[in-house]
Order: sequence, then structure tokens, then C-alpha cells
Amino acid sequence: MIDYPPMKILLTDDQLREGIRRMADAIGKHYQHKPLTIVGVMIGSIVLLADLIRLLNLPLRVELVQARSYRNGTRPGPLVINTELLSTKVRGRHVLLVDDIFDTGRTLWELIPQIDELGPESVRTAVLLQKQGCCEVKMKPDFVAFDVPKGFVVGYGLDYNDQYRNLPHIALLEPQEMEETP
Ligand code: 5GP
Ligand code: MG
Repeated sequence: MIDYPPMKILLTDDQLREGIRRMADAIGKHYQHKPLTIVGVMIGSIVLLADLIRLLNLPLRVELVQARSYRNGTRPGPLVINTELLSTKVRGRHVLLVDDIFDTGRTLWELIPQIDELGPESVRTAVLLQKQGCCEVKMKPDFVAFDVPKGFVVGYGLDYNDQYRNLPHIALLEPQEMEETP
């Protein structure tokens, strides 16, 4: 057992597995016979990415970009995008950006035009979680596994101060638990 404070579990590992399988089915149908490059948004998407690609029965490539916005606990700081890890070989391919959570939407909203500049056939987005009532941009993710209420969630790749990414479930981090996190 990991010694973390008790937290409210929003999605169990069984629920996550089932929701990700449903999303993978939809993604698999959409990209049948299309050359697909999956681009994971680091770091939060890594757990989803690892599970999702193993459920996709398609020939695909995997690439990574890095985006950081939650630079100080839960307070959003300026968004910093690093596309150095991304190869420019997406011309003629369909790109699916994969992120852990769609909150204000600014991360994916700012990433899409940067990917578009590389000349892919299409750019779409898939997220594990979509936070309700927080969207500040004129787009919605194309594939969503779960909607979650407002609040700060951790686990399954999502962190608070670089902790909790290794929880197998999604938990809600209450304000007092944030104070207790070293
Ligand atoms: P957005 O740009 O959509 O506002 O936020 C996207 C990024 O912010 C996510 O990739 C994630 O890194 C971070 N984020 C947003 N909401 C949460 C949350 O509830 N918990 C955690 N751990 N990260 C979040
Ligand atoms: Mg992120």
C-alpha cells in the first residue's frame, strides 16, 4: 500500500479499464485503414497512453510532446509547450493528441495549430477526463472516456506537486489534503 492520505475515489481501476476500452473501440473504428500517429502530452498522459495503445489493434506510431501549465500546485501558470521530442514526420498521417484531462482546454487548443503546421492529414484529440463547466476555448475533445465534476483530481498519471501519478485510480484531492502533501 502506498502511504497517501485517504482520498475520495472518483473512478476505480475497473471503471477506468472499462471506460478506456470503450474509448479505444471508438478510436479504433475511426482510424481503421488510416495511418495513425498518437501524440501523448507529457507527463500526465503516460499511463493512459500505455494502456490505450495496447487496446488499439491498428498499425500506429507513438510520439510525445510536453506541455506544462500547473506549475505551482493546482494554480495554473503560463503554458509552456515543448515540441522538440516530436518528429516532423506527420505529413500524410492522422494525428491523435492524447492528454490526461481537458480542463480549460487551453493546452490542446494551443497544441493543435502547432501540430497543424507540420502538415498532417488531420488532428484530433482524446482525453481520459473532461472537467465539467471549465472549458474556456471553442473546441471539445473528440474522444472522452469520462466526464468529471469540478475539483482537483489525481492518480492514473495525474499529479499534485509531482506525486500521486502512480495511483491506479482517479481520486479527488481536497484542499486540506493538498496542505498535507509534502
Ligand atoms: P487545460 O489546459 O485543459 O486547462 O489543462 C490541461 C492540463 O492541466 C492537463 O493536462 C493537466 O496536466 C492539468 N490539469 C488540469 N486539471 C487538472 C486536475 O484536476 N488535476 C491534475 N492533476 N492536473 C490537472
Ligand atoms: Mg498535462
